[in-house]
Amino acid sequence: MRILIANDDGFRSPGLAALHAELATVAECTVVAPDRDRSGASNSLTLTRPLRAHRQDNGFIAVEGTPTDCVHLAINGFFEEPPDMVVSGVNAGANMGDDVHYSGTVAAAMEGRSLGLPAIAVSLVGHEPLHHYATAARVVRELIARLAGRRQPASIINVNVPDRPYEELAGWRATRLGNRHKSEPVIVTRDPRGRECYWIGAPGPEQDAGEGTDFHAVAAGCVSVTPLASDMTRHTALPAVEEWIGVCDRD
Ligand code: MN
Repeated sequence: MRILIANDDGFRSPGLAALHAELATVAECTVVAPDRDRSGASNSLTLTRPLRAHRQDNGFIAVEGTPTDCVHLAINGFFEEPPDMVVSGVNAGANMGDDVHYSGTVAAAMEGRSLGLPAIAVSLVGHEPLHHYATAARVVRELIARLAGRRQPASIINVNVPDRPYEELAGWRATRLGNRHKSEPVIVTRDPRGRECYWIGAPGPEQDAGEGTDFHAVAAGCVSVTPLASDMTRHTALPAVEEWIGVCDRD
């Protein structure tokens, strides 16, 4: 089995190293990751300049681009034969509920899916400093092993793992995405020259964190495994939209 590993925290991140160390025991792994922290990059491609890639002493490839660039470049540029799957992470921090729309970690997995490959995004949930990246990495190895050769039930799987030793995980749950309240306000500061500058505020607190959500599972100490779809069409709203715009053919 051949696995492409990517992330959004950059090629130096401890989560990436832990994931590679674990998956290298069961698969041939190639690591292609951004050259710096690109958290929050979402599904962005760099289209206005060329991309450079730098092979590191440990074999990891650092790309001067986004997580999506990394996966796109690897699959459409570096590999002669595509890998069997893409794994993205281990992210430093949760990617639950609405986070998935901003996450570069999830975006890297989505790009794998866009290019026809099953993909897993994995994040470690806790407060900095995070400790147990190895737990999340082992969870991914277990997930792949439990597939036992079957097709992954959804192309994109979003996994969140509590920051604790593997033996202290309370269980595994299949979950849906929860919801957050709106983000905290933008923070205004001044640079040393007195000019105003801004920080995007922290994610809002959980709004829908009820039974069955990713938030709920992780709060209970469980691994949360959420199947994601990339089709954002609101199919149930189609009839109402047809009625609204008035469906008629111009002929
Ligand atoms: Mn990140």
